[in-house]
Amino acid sequence: MRKRIVIIGGGFAGITAMHTLKKLLRHEVDVTLIDYRSNTLNKPRLPDVAIKGESVEHARFLMKKAVKHDDYQLIQETVIKINPKEQKIFLKEGGIEGYDYLILAPGVEKYYAGIEGFIEYGYSVCDDIQAPRLYRRLQTFKGGPVFIGSMPYESGIRVDAPKLIAPCEGPVGEVMFMLKEFLRKKGLSESSPITAFTPAKIFFEDVGDDVRNAVGAIMKKERIGLLTEKIVSKIDSERIYFKDGTSELCALPIILPQYKPYEFLMEAGLTDEAGFIPTDNQMRHLDFKNVFAAGDATALSVPKLGHIAVVQAEIAAKTIASDLGKKVRIPAFEPAILCVMERSNMQATMIYSNILYGRNLDETLNGHMAFIMKWSFDFYYNFTRGHMPPKFAENLLVKYLSRK
Ligand SMILES: Cc1cc2nc3c(=O)[nH]c(=O)nc-3n(C[C@H](O)[C@H](O)[C@H](O)COP(=O)(O)OP(=O)(O)OC[C@H]3O[C@@H](n4cnc5c(N)ncnc54)[C@H](O)[C@@H]3O)c2cc1C
Repeated sequence: MRKRIVIIGGGFAGITAMHTLKKLLRHEVDVTLIDYRSNTLNKPRLPDVAIKGESVEHARFLMKKAVKHDDYQLIQETVIKINPKEQKIFLKEGGIEGYDYLILAPGVEKYYAGIEGFIEYGYSVCDDIQAPRLYRRLQTFKGGPVFIGSMPYESGIRVDAPKLIAPCEGPVGEVMFMLKEFLRKKGLSESSPITAFTPAKIFFEDVGDDVRNAVGAIMKKERIGLLTEKIVSKIDSERIYFKDGTSELCALPIILPQYKPYEFLMEAGLTDEAGFIPTDNQMRHLDFKNVFAAGDATALSVPKLGHIAVVQAEIAAKTIASDLGKKVRIPAFEPAILCVMERSNMQATMIYSNILYGRNLDETLNGHMAFIMKWSFDFYYNFTRGHMPPKFAENLLVKYLSRK
């Protein structure tokens, strides 16, 4: 009998898993993607929406087009419950979907409500509501101290993943550099000092010294301040308050909220004690053989990055294909931190680092080339409805960086 594979979530991980299944299994299986959104959001594009006022449409592509192109099924619905023992998925508006294999790729909830005062005074860039909201705020901004940073991450202990306190500081870096340029152009640079803050002991704790020093040098040149070991407790119309009892005058707080796991996964017994999905290195759930996971929702995704989501999704889809009898080489899970931070004048800083995972590449690429790479990726990803650039492009990049 034909097997049914259900994917929950059509972000970086879910769409990559779907495309990989299409390549390997075509229509030997039924594949269904469930997502409550009608479009896939390319989040690395959101700082352009928030600071440059780029249309939010540029950061989205129609999910149904991607699914239709693969000739699979899309259910536009919210999953509210899963019973992994009975292999059932419960949908919000009614209906129960069964599966033979399940790929969990719902990402994480961005917990803005966990920051007192955020709704009234706080700003962020993490989704297609917050990014345009920040842009609107910037249009009336008259100057004053700006603070940018993230909330801490809590990880579980079931899998052997790096223990980080800040889940992903790339967006913090990108927003502070882009904002500096925005304020300069508006003549507000002098009256609006920017300070980055981190809950960790060091900023960019997920990379090695070479990358960290390179980012630090740009911050120094741009006169961007830094506060470490700071966790926001509250914001109001005038100040930002930290859990250590200190506070600072603040006219514009921009915060990456806590990455909160979804309750329906916890209730289903699919998560570790911190709420993330524990898997082995082939992305198979530690307790349920036919359940796989990829992306931000997994315990192995540290830090939370699209690049890691994609690597995991490909491994998950290939492992399922192998379970179903296909001869496929399942790649080893060898994550890397790949992040591009746009700056001014069509320049960017690209970070590639795998030091966190016991390897030895820790490089930045600065200038127009890095900007072109970001732009090319966005164009390719959106234009091909969620396909990743060919693997040789990354291999070439790694080769080039290794020789620098
Ligand atoms: C501003 C910003 C910049 C970034 N820059 C980079 C970068 O340069 N490089 C990098 O590698 N990463 C970057 N990231 C991180 C990257 O975007 C995420 O790691 C990535 O999006 C995670 O992919 P995902 O598929 O796991 O989750 P998501 O992209 O969040 O997708 C999850 C999907 O699941 C759906 N879903 C959730 N719950 C349900 C439910 N109950 N029922 C049905 N559907 C559901 C959602 O609607 C969504 O479509 C950035 C993030 C931000 C916010």
